[in-house]
Amino acid sequence: MIGFDPAARAWASDADAAAEAAETDARLAGIPRLDGTLLRDDASLSAASDDYGHIVHQRPAAVLRPGSVRDVVAMVRFCNEHCVPVAPRGQGHAPFGQAQVPGGLVIETTPLAAIGPVGPDSTTVTVGAGARWSEVARATLAHGLTPPVFTDYIELSVGGTLSVGGLGGQTHRHGAQVDNVTELRVVTGAGELVRCSPTRRPDLFHAVLAGLGQCGIIVEATLRLVPAPANVRHYHLTYDDLATFLDDQRLLVQDGRFDYVEGQVTADAAGAFRVYTLEAVAYGPPAGPAPDDATLLRGLRHTPSGVRYEDRSYFDFLDRLAPLVAMLKEAGFWRYAHPWLNLMVPGTSAAGVSAPLLDALTPADVGPGVILFYPLLRERLTTPLLRTSDEPVSYLFDILGATPPDDTAAVDGRLAANRSAYEAAAAAGGTQYPVGSIPFTPADWRTHFGPAWPALKAAKQTYDPRGILVPGQGIF
Ligand SMILES: Cc1cc2nc3c(=O)[nH]c(=O)nc-3n(C[C@H](O)[C@H](O)[C@H](O)COP(=O)(O)OP(=O)(O)OC[C@H]3O[C@@H](n4cnc5c(N)ncnc54)[C@H](O)[C@@H]3O)c2cc1C
Repeated sequence: MIGFDPAARAWASDADAAAEAAETDARLAGIPRLDGTLLRDDASLSAASDDYGHIVHQRPAAVLRPGSVRDVVAMVRFCNEHCVPVAPRGQGHAPFGQAQVPGGLVIETTPLAAIGPVGPDSTTVTVGAGARWSEVARATLAHGLTPPVFTDYIELSVGGTLSVGGLGGQTHRHGAQVDNVTELRVVTGAGELVRCSPTRRPDLFHAVLAGLGQCGIIVEATLRLVPAPANVRHYHLTYDDLATFLDDQRLLVQDGRFDYVEGQVTADAAGAFRVYTLEAVAYGPPAGPAPDDATLLRGLRHTPSGVRYEDRSYFDFLDRLAPLVAMLKEAGFWRYAHPWLNLMVPGTSAAGVSAPLLDALTPADVGPGVILFYPLLRERLTTPLLRTSDEPVSYLFDILGATPPDDTAAVDGRLAANRSAYEAAAAAGGTQYPVGSIPFTPADWRTHFGPAWPALKAAKQTYDPRGILVPGQGIF
């Protein structure tokens, strides 16, 4: 049995509840009747005190596994009344405690995963926030349709990526995932269930997309759909010079000849991070023409021998990380700490900011992780809270390291390095993409949001007046 103690702003333990049976009954009268379950067992609380980073561990008092949106509304209202902090959790792939809530309530969104209906003429699909992007892709591809933008890893929840932005190699064409949402259903911090869009409660809509869960819990999102290609041609082009690699990425996103552009940096035989691989993907029919190598590769300055490509189905391309992730899980690397660095760097400073960071890296710093560059076009990014630089081209520069979890000195070293790297990026007019592990203060957040800060602050006061939502981001 579970009891809530308003004075302590916490749920009483099972032992307390047993000792104070009569009082517990009275307290329980306040907890709403639920279609789902409120969990307080050790396994559920421990799972909610961990995430993909395995660095931060904050234990909630309870976990809601909702049976309905009504449950989310009821429990958020209850928590709002008693000033209990709340955080929604999708796949728990944030790496630095962003979905954790000490002494509060974690709301799992995985049960809210309905998709559809969708048909061959659909221009949008409405999905539950807990649906994974892989599930959305499968459901829409059955009708030849697809959301236009995917993250590299597609087992993330829709609500989770829409709360951060959702960037992929298609972003230079279509913006971020948040730029492809036409409507949301949101439970505000006051426990109000609200439908919002660019024209209906736009202040809430713009405060929730890339809003890091601060003003509302997304329970449903309506996503734009476009025709999907059947197959794609995926090129890997090798460079031996960082500036040339970045210039070619810039050229490709500005002339738009490819549907997807990203790139990786790997270590050479001496352990120096100076092998650059540009990844570019051309969609085939019916979403694009049959790929023509000569036209697609014209004018690029990769090393002459450094061209390789494969043709694959569109879904296999979207799901390309599945075999690697299976291997990482099998080898135990998924359990490693992930002190991730994700920087948004202005195009003109990208080489200047990233080169010293790459020079300072050792293979041990990265471990079984990756280093990525995503070139982004400013004109395609329209969501106010998704912060980049004001330059026409920016780069998302990621050092996604993995460290043995018991090597706390190494983790602390990476966190300190992340902080310095953020400061170098900020000095050059950049910021972070907030999906990583950078020690950040409320003052840093105000700088981060810049001109978008007043609207976010006002929306927070309106929609989460008691400040209960998502304390793990450390913003308010
Ligand atoms: C292997 C891997 C690959 C990745 N690749 C990419 C990539 O290519 N591009 C990219 O942009 N990102 C990428 N990410 C980052 C990822 O998009 C974010 O960490 C995302 O938030 C994770 O989704 P989740 O469902 O695990 O969210 P969680 O970790 O569960 O939650 C993240 C944050 O969002 C909040 N939140 C969760 N659900 C909701 C909701 N319904 N409403 C409001 N707030 C909510 C949580 O409270 C928390 O603060 C990657 C992460 C991993 C681990």
